[in-house]
Amino acid sequence: MTEDLHARHRAVLPDWLALYYDTPLEITHGEGRHVWDAAGTKYLDFFGGILTTMTAHALPEVTKAVSEQAGRILHSSTLYLNRPMVELAEKMAELSGIPDARVFFTTSGTEANDTALLLATTHRRSNTLLAMRNSYHGRSFSTVGITGNRGWSPTSLSPLQTLYVHGGVRTRGPYAHLGDEEFIAACVEDLKDLLGHTRPPAALIAEPIQGVGGFTSPPDGLYAAFREVLRERGVLWISDEVQTGWGRTGDHFWGWQAHARSGPPDIVTFAKGIGNGMSIGGVVARAEIMNCLDANSISTFGGTQITMAAGLANLTYLLEHDLRGNARRVGGQLLDRLRTATADNPAVREVRGRGLMIGVELVRPGTDEADPAAAAAVLEAAREGGLLLGKGGGHDTSALRIAPPLTLTAAEAEEGADILAGALRSVL
Ligand code: PMP
Repeated sequence: MTEDLHARHRAVLPDWLALYYDTPLEITHGEGRHVWDAAGTKYLDFFGGILTTMTAHALPEVTKAVSEQAGRILHSSTLYLNRPMVELAEKMAELSGIPDARVFFTTSGTEANDTALLLATTHRRSNTLLAMRNSYHGRSFSTVGITGNRGWSPTSLSPLQTLYVHGGVRTRGPYAHLGDEEFIAACVEDLKDLLGHTRPPAALIAEPIQGVGGFTSPPDGLYAAFREVLRERGVLWISDEVQTGWGRTGDHFWGWQAHARSGPPDIVTFAKGIGNGMSIGGVVARAEIMNCLDANSISTFGGTQITMAAGLANLTYLLEHDLRGNARRVGGQLLDRLRTATADNPAVREVRGRGLMIGVELVRPGTDEADPAAAAAVLEAAREGGLLLGKGGGHDTSALRIAPPLTLTAAEAEEGADILAGALRSVL
């Protein structure tokens, strides 16, 4: 029984391994955009298992590739040649937009960012980093040290010296009243000010759209403007595409491409969706940066044949079915519908997003105060209606996060929007 499992979970797992819902869910299977819990209840999945299910649950093409590979070998060794790893690396290098690209596979987004930090600090001989306020980059000792979202940064002891830059959140903070161009100019001034008062940092790391932070995005071109300043000072740009990669934003394959005026980042990190549930992360960088390490370094499980086979099948499906185009079309419809359905709800401060990455920010009616209790209540009500959502936000978790598998159909988008609008009405 799920209740027993919850008690056992609490008895043996850490308190900080947070669970969603008053009565947590035990998901036992999935198909397409739907999942079922242990009691047999069906849900429309608007969170894709925190964006890990990129295309669809139980996608037959991925299942087939995984079972065929499992029938041969799960993993040999990173010390031997590995055909699916080379093939996926070739695809990633080509898709990355980075010239002379090299790819290193890891098992998670945290480890991908950790590797990016190792590369950047070694290459630039500096342990000073720039990161964005409100950011999230992982849970290891190094990545919590570049995570600006205090709710997800459990220690202030860090081997890195990090300076936090304005710009990841467009609608709150001291520059919120400014228009796009003025906003960018103010953030650039802030960056220059930080750079003027410190040892040269190794890199700026940023999520093009902040994920855990509540799907907030800066005006297009912010990182291009940052890039010009960084380049002059020899500071690298790391784009954390763990949530924004694979066409989720609809307009582009990578989130950084909305800022592409001055070319690709120096380093791109990715994870989550590529394996469609299999644990794959990775780093792409120019050879000159990737090869700056002068000692051996391997990841025992980074690039196992079984995960690479899943990644290849998943990526092929995504490209052949133009799921980026689907994210743009269906995501656009969903955004419009949610905006219309919530237009007269004073608790909805903003419905924002790009493609299939949509945030609904909740406040106490008549104020600008974040309302985490409302977000939690809406999550529960939506679940009652058969819809799974995510939540996130700045220092208070007051935004609903919508990031379904990229095969979402127009009918499913409508169905989910109606359930969500009903949940909002019932609670607020
Ligand atoms: N970067 C971003 C932008 C993320 O959203 C996450 C996970 N939420 C990570 C890094 C860390 O990835 P993982 O949980 O796979 O370690």
